[in-house]
Amino acid sequence: MVSDGKVVSNPLERSSCNNCGHGFHAKNFSEEQIKEIYSADYSIGLRDPVAEAARSAEYSRQIEAFLTHQLGNEANFPKIIEFGCGSGTLLSHLTDRLGAQIATGVEPSSRVAANARLNVGDRISIHQGFAEQFEETAPDYNLCLSVNVIEHTRNPRGFLQACRRVIHKTGNIVVICPDGEIVGSELLFYDHISNFTRASLAMIAASANLRIVANSPLMGGLQGFRIYLLRFGDADLGNQARGFEVLSQERVEYVNTWSKVQDTTCGMLKGRKYGVFGTGEYSDLLHAYSPSVIEKAEFFVRDQPVEADFYGKPVVSVKDFLSLPRLPLIAAVHERSWPLVRDRFKSEDVQIFHSLEIARQDLIP
Ligand SMILES: [Zn+2]
Repeated sequence: MVSDGKVVSNPLERSSCNNCGHGFHAKNFSEEQIKEIYSADYSIGLRDPVAEAARSAEYSRQIEAFLTHQLGNEANFPKIIEFGCGSGTLLSHLTDRLGAQIATGVEPSSRVAANARLNVGDRISIHQGFAEQFEETAPDYNLCLSVNVIEHTRNPRGFLQACRRVIHKTGNIVVICPDGEIVGSELLFYDHISNFTRASLAMIAASANLRIVANSPLMGGLQGFRIYLLRFGDADLGNQARGFEVLSQERVEYVNTWSKVQDTTCGMLKGRKYGVFGTGEYSDLLHAYSPSVIEKAEFFVRDQPVEADFYGKPVVSVKDFLSLPRLPLIAAVHERSWPLVRDRFKSEDVQIFHSLEIARQDLIP
């Protein structure tokens, strides 16, 4: 599955480096395949504008806190550029919060870029294109930002070089990406070409004459992501690489568990009517990797429905669901949110299951 929920027909085959923990596709894919994925209809972030706005505000808050913590009074950036600016919401927040006079957003999808132009204020200009092709006479930005972009690039070194090209030599590069040291659903996104560990990103940065000066996991609703601060300079890669065999093995087990989800979930619910809680990314994952679980569901449940139907099924509010005779639910929520969701519905006497947990239990001999 691609990040916007689209299903591609190529099988998912991943590998990991045991020395640095870098995760990658076993088969490299072409420039054409990348362009196809990010063509005009790539629409991540346009589906639920309310959730997208809340998420941007949270990214903005955590980026600002990280920069203030790392740079103190220097955390002031007259000129900001964001590669992969999406709707432009985050760039707008940061332009205000970090005191920028000029900001540039670069976005490869023409449809998303056109939407961004409508969202941003006078100080921000939006360019359609890829970071690697961005050109400006004297860029000299104080901050180059990218949020969940580098893992999509076919050539992360080339991407970091593009970041380096646009900043002043005293400038800062902030990169946020999924934390590849945490094994989870990130592995299922076909368009996540790389899974970065701190060690693997440090090596790639060094090859672009950059060094990671600080990094930190993001918190709360952004758990699972890591923020990096990079600057010009030579890295000390001394003892970065260590044995990553355990991480490699955990990734294999995670993906193998997902390959059992459809059979084990359908087996357990055989003949019963049920609903699916959640209409987000995790529902898309179930749809892509275990389509029968979604096809056989009666309806979706979510807190504040923004859509009348989803994958051809009605979407009902939790309140309405609880007013009806209770049917069991499959929780289409991230593994880290599962305990909270489980306890919440159990307290309402609702039988609720998580597909990954069912598949894992099935694997226990
Ligand atoms: Zn490696």
